[in-house]
Amino acid sequence: METSIENGTAQGTVAGLIDGLASSRITVVDLTTPLSAATPTLELPEPFANLIDFSLEEVSAYNERGPFWKHHNIHTGEHIGTHLDAPVHWATGRGGKDVSRIEPGRLVGPALVLDVTDEVAADPDFLLDVGHIRAWESEHGPLHDGGWLLIRTGWESRAGSRQEFLNNDGHGRPHSPGLTVECAQWIARESGLSGIGVETVGIDAGGAGGQEPPFPAHHFLLGNDKYGITSLRNLGELPPVGAAIVVAPLPIVDGTGSPARVFALRDQSQAQ
Ligand code: MN
Repeated sequence: METSIENGTAQGTVAGLIDGLASSRITVVDLTTPLSAATPTLELPEPFANLIDFSLEEVSAYNERGPFWKHHNIHTGEHIGTHLDAPVHWATGRGGKDVSRIEPGRLVGPALVLDVTDEVAADPDFLLDVGHIRAWESEHGPLHDGGWLLIRTGWESRAGSRQEFLNNDGHGRPHSPGLTVECAQWIARESGLSGIGVETVGIDAGGAGGQEPPFPAHHFLLGNDKYGITSLRNLGELPPVGAAIVVAPLPIVDGTGSPARVFALRDQSQAQ
């Protein structure tokens, strides 16, 4: 479609978006946790192998190794900080896409925010069930195809402390919210969502190793070409419906995931 500007009014949908950004009628919300060596990351128990944390290695800093510039090597696991899980991350998705092969159109879509902050405050092991999604739909309408269900739990308030964020008990068991098996199965097989986003360190509950099958969000979503993003923040700045999400992982060839920058676009006039 032709785009033109007449009397200062942009014609065309993207032109309208650009106008909205310029006039602050549309705002960009950063849903990403800053990435540093201190970013809290998953700790698998023995005998499993863990990824390395993120770190910067200075190569030069306006000095004899590079007089006019500063640059670093980065060292990181794929699943560190705010990151995307690609299908090949899980055994059920091993024949699926690596992170470089996920279509960009699946990574931009409606942001649908379901708030269970109160439930999680009462029970850190809270599991979202299909009934919670049905209740949300009765208030806000059906989940949009191509949407991302963003589960607001209030967990981001713990992100400053590795201990509170991982929430291990004295027996090495983490306690954090997630999905029931039925809910993971429903999202994967019945919904038209592209994926889910969570505030916790992973898309499954802390106790998901004890569910059947273990880690049902990973098992069902990644096995059905749905994706997951973790360690989100600022979900409280979004309305339940009406915002758009942009998920931007690095296109790492053969990568099972990648740290990602995640933005939302929202109308300033929308109620939160
Ligand atoms: Mn992951």
